[in-house]
Amino acid sequence: MEYRTLGKTGLKVSEIGFGGEWLERHDEAESVELLKYAHEKEINIVDCWMPDPKSRDIIGRAMEGCRDSWYVQGHIGSTYQNGQYVRTRDMKFVRPAFEDLLERFHSDYIDLGMIHYIDSMEDWNNAMNGDFIKYVHELHDKGTIRHIGLSTHNPVIGKLAVQTGFIEMILFSINPAFDMRPATEDLDSMFGGYDKDELSGIDPDRAEFYQMCERENVGLTVMKGFFGGALLDKERSPFGVAFTPVQLIHYSLTRPGVSSILCGYDTKEQVDEAVSYETASDDEKDYASVIAGAPLHSYTGQCTYCGHCKPCPVDIDIAMVNKFYDLATAQNSVPESVREHYKSLKHTASECIGCKGCESRCPFDVKIADRMKKTAALFSF
Ligand code: SF4
Ligand code: SF4
Repeated sequence: MEYRTLGKTGLKVSEIGFGGEWLERHDEAESVELLKYAHEKEINIVDCWMPDPKSRDIIGRAMEGCRDSWYVQGHIGSTYQNGQYVRTRDMKFVRPAFEDLLERFHSDYIDLGMIHYIDSMEDWNNAMNGDFIKYVHELHDKGTIRHIGLSTHNPVIGKLAVQTGFIEMILFSINPAFDMRPATEDLDSMFGGYDKDELSGIDPDRAEFYQMCERENVGLTVMKGFFGGALLDKERSPFGVAFTPVQLIHYSLTRPGVSSILCGYDTKEQVDEAVSYETASDDEKDYASVIAGAPLHSYTGQCTYCGHCKPCPVDIDIAMVNKFYDLATAQNSVPESVREHYKSLKHTASECIGCKGCESRCPFDVKIADRMKKTAALFSF
């Protein structure tokens, strides 16, 4: 298993993680066994947004005796009222729901204290101005939550979160279909039918959000990486083709700022399938050909950082150079951190010999040699 540093938290999280949502579907012992199995496969991060006692008890039992080797995303503002999940900032419910989480985990701390699910400006303003956010800071000051995170499906909220400076990581919904949709406060609308016209490449707000995360060192963990399973099914995929889990995992893990994708599992076989990413070949990971070969796609000219253009005769990491170019040109001046990262590359754009061998392998018709020239000029002073 490869581990990646989760932004400012400094935690080394497994790039394949565990989204706990489906644990509740199964018999408790079976779900405990599944989590333990995932841990044996070296998965070390689990998300628990769920407020129900069963899901929380399952995770608590699975972590018995090995609490320290798990990183938990525990949500603040996800409550259970009359047997129902309720998202709220009302402290009358928030505080006991979070205390319940600690109790059921038999733990006095949560690694990643997540400000739960903010998608609208109204909720953002409500959560960020009042007792709710005071409580989050209080938990952090006491060490009950070791780091502050936030979950959202809206890149506009994500950008605000990055700008706070105190939110160290974000749980965000990423997949190739969502990436084409403009920001919205209504998650349900993300699952609606996709018109051909709107398949026009990565939405600028989303691209900017990922770049901000990478630049400001705010780690991203991924939810909804398979678009609720629709991208695994040709009939339901907006691209008109089915992806494999490994391809979708690779898509998420090649977005700037991303450290881990948290998949949902019903069976050990599904865990095995996700973990097989670690030993998959470049061909097996290749989502770019799938997107480019789809009847409905229009990523033309945009670098998706897929790495399909390898190898370069002078060993330039083209996807990485392109990513730094995008990060640098997203602002008025080149940020110092981006410049430093660029300079630490083994081979930089100035070494490009203009052979264009890469261009014939790029499924998205990116004018790579030209971009190399522009990148070399951009970072030359
Ligand atoms: S230039 Fe093309 S092939 Fe290379 S990483 Fe970008 S999109 Fe992929
Ligand atoms: S054009 Fe430049 S970046 Fe592309 S393969 Fe040739 S040397 Fe490498």
